[in-house]
Amino acid sequence: MTTPTASSTSYEIRPSSNPRTVTERAEVLADLKFGTVFTDHMAHATWTNQEGWHHRRIEAYGPLQLDPASAVLHYAQEVFEGLKAYAHPDGSVWSFRPEANARRFARSAERLALPQLSEEDFLDSVRQLVHTDVEWVPTTPGSSLYLRPFMFASEAFLGVRAAQRVDYLVIASPVGPYFARGITPVHIWVSEDYTRAAPGGTGAAKCGGNYAASLLPQADAAARGFDQILFLDPSGENIEELGGMNVVVIHADGSASTPRLTGSILEGVTRSSILTLLAEDGRTVTERDIPLAELVDGVRSGEVTEIFACGTAAVVTPIGRLAGTDFDVTVGDGEAGQVTRDVHATLTGIQYGTREDTHGWLTRL
Ligand code: PMP
Repeated sequence: MTTPTASSTSYEIRPSSNPRTVTERAEVLADLKFGTVFTDHMAHATWTNQEGWHHRRIEAYGPLQLDPASAVLHYAQEVFEGLKAYAHPDGSVWSFRPEANARRFARSAERLALPQLSEEDFLDSVRQLVHTDVEWVPTTPGSSLYLRPFMFASEAFLGVRAAQRVDYLVIASPVGPYFARGITPVHIWVSEDYTRAAPGGTGAAKCGGNYAASLLPQADAAARGFDQILFLDPSGENIEELGGMNVVVIHADGSASTPRLTGSILEGVTRSSILTLLAEDGRTVTERDIPLAELVDGVRSGEVTEIFACGTAAVVTPIGRLAGTDFDVTVGDGEAGQVTRDVHATLTGIQYGTREDTHGWLTRL
């Protein structure tokens, strides 16, 4: 566990003049959905090539005024992150490996030619926002405050070059448990027509364009009756990841495998945490190329016993069925397997403070 050092004052707190009432907040917190309501404030800082990062403030949540020529609206120069704040039984509020999100944010920014925000600045923005809106951190089981840091090119200029004015914000949304009625397996369509990222592209960066490119294949999968899409690498041979989650395969001998980080996969914080937990559980964990044909054969033969997707929003999501143009297989009995359930219980136990954090993954906000 990491506890805060002296509280920073770098973000000027400008309280909202129109926060929601206690009753309004209670109504929102009693009926949580994903990403639809936001807290009363947001963190905001501005960067220019002349001044660097400045004007750090916590201000009222609200619409931004953007020049129609803002570069982000034309060339998608934007990156973002996703992490959560969890209330523990004693009322304290914690986040899970936020420094990993800060580092990934910096790597994403570098790839999109955006300025670097220091790890300290990232953590400070999150901490100051959560302190200001701490009453919005939900305490019902499995709920959390989802935090969305993002940075975009706000310079009004239509030339194609790195923007010289950039805005950084953090917004926060109270969210309920992803699986309100127990862990539910998803059905996955394997995209053979579209890829998500190519070598040398932006697949390893968390930038908006990657998600825009995933929407049409996702809609195709939904039209076929599937929940989500699994992308293959550009060769069409190996599996990569879902639109917003990494994938882990559990084998009959108890070992685990996951696609290696090729540069076109996003390195998930949940993925890396789960690989650590599985290895500590005595399992052989391999990061390698996983051919789709091998995976489908393994599911058919029973050599693959479980497949799950993992990410901050849902923690783990069992994959019950995998289909593509010439195959359709049920994984195990189509329900959540034991390893999937155990991983979910261990990880959420650490996040919510009911299991010991032996790895120092929690940071007090
Ligand atoms: N892959 C993609 C494409 C994602 O958007 C996400 C969500 N950030 C993940 C994997 C999982 O990452 P994390 O565990 O850090 O949430």
